[in-house]
Amino acid sequence: MPYSCELGPSQKIYLDNAGPMTLITLASGSAGQQQQSSTQVHTGPWTEVPQIARLGSGVLLRCVTAQGTYIWQIQGMQIGVAPTNAWVADQATPMQAIEVGPSPMSPMQPMEPMAPMRMGDMQMSMNPMTMRMGNMTLGLDAPAASIQQFCTQCGGAIAPGDRFCGSCGHQLH
Ligand SMILES: [Zn+2]
Repeated sequence: MPYSCELGPSQKIYLDNAGPMTLITLASGSAGQQQQSSTQVHTGPWTEVPQIARLGSGVLLRCVTAQGTYIWQIQGMQIGVAPTNAWVADQATPMQAIEVGPSPMSPMQPMEPMAPMRMGDMQMSMNPMTMRMGNMTLGLDAPAASIQQFCTQCGGAIAPGDRFCGSCGHQLH
């Protein structure tokens, strides 16, 4: 479940736990002048609600997972790892869970299912195997026997399978 916290009038922080990853996203600015910075850390799944502590110089974030305790320091748009002893428990407050659907600023919106691939004006069909690209057609359905053959002796047209030329009687095979 994603969590968020207002850091100031125009800055918000989002925290999410996607599988074993903790995603931290900082968003600041007003409409039309948005700034975002985010980081991903392999922490394992959270075992506690993430907490936030406000300091004079910035904000500390804390996530507790089965792997341990992770502290990050936020200053301006910078997200950095902080030592665990930087945590000030008496100034900490739990972050607020985002109950309603994903906010437009959240980076965690589920992916749309992929639309069927279209590659320009290229079309493919499997039966018979043909491929059209623009006005060019490649196909495997044209029988080789339809290629017109001619007698080597007189140049007359020969039907496929003929053993003798129909015009001069020349033996073809
Ligand atoms: Zn012939």
